Amino acid sequence: MALRRPLDDRHSVYVDRHFPQTLLKKEGYRYRVVLGVGGNIGDTRRRMNHLWHYLGRLPQLSRIRSGVILRNPPFGFLDQNDFDNTVIEVATSLTPRVFLRLIWRIEKRFGRRRSFANAPRTLDLDILFFDNRKIITKELSVPHPHWDKRSSVMIPLKSLAHKGARRYYENLDI
Ligand code: AMP
Repeated sequence: MALRRPLDDRHSVYVDRHFPQTLLKKEGYRYRVVLGVGGNIGDTRRRMNHLWHYLGRLPQLSRIRSGVILRNPPFGFLDQNDFDNTVIEVATSLTPRVFLRLIWRIEKRFGRRRSFANAPRTLDLDILFFDNRKIITKELSVPHPHWDKRSSVMIPLKSLAHKGARRYYENLDI
């Protein structure tokens, strides 16, 4: 059962089974990463809970905590369902490039089909922060562009903020 708190007529915050959740920190990983998680096809919140369990079984990372889920309107292509968005913080020793390939595999595993920009999706994973690094390559922009202008990022992220999420962006070299 999820608890829903409407923010206005198009935005609601959901507290669901594993969102938010904080786990005991595991030592031995080199980096900390904040993932943006989104989707708008089918039962996205149920899928997010499955994702949480799935991540728990991966040896390449360790879950640290999750944020609340925000239900919010689409942007870009408007003729589609509202989105659910959340954030998940993990620890890993993979490099950003290898970590990106891991999240591509996870998206595929959860049924993502690439069609067009801003299209409906079962599960979208973005690297919002990778420690407090700034990365600009052909395939990666970190921090994720516009992260600070989107309520789909900011509201779930703020639910982590009092637990130390500021470390990612306070010392960013931007
Ligand atoms: P999307 O369809 O929104 O999931 O975008 C996927 C593409 O964005 C991939 O081809 C990535 O190479 C690129 N990309 C750039 N920056 C990031 C990031 N921070 N996290 C995930 N994908 C990224």
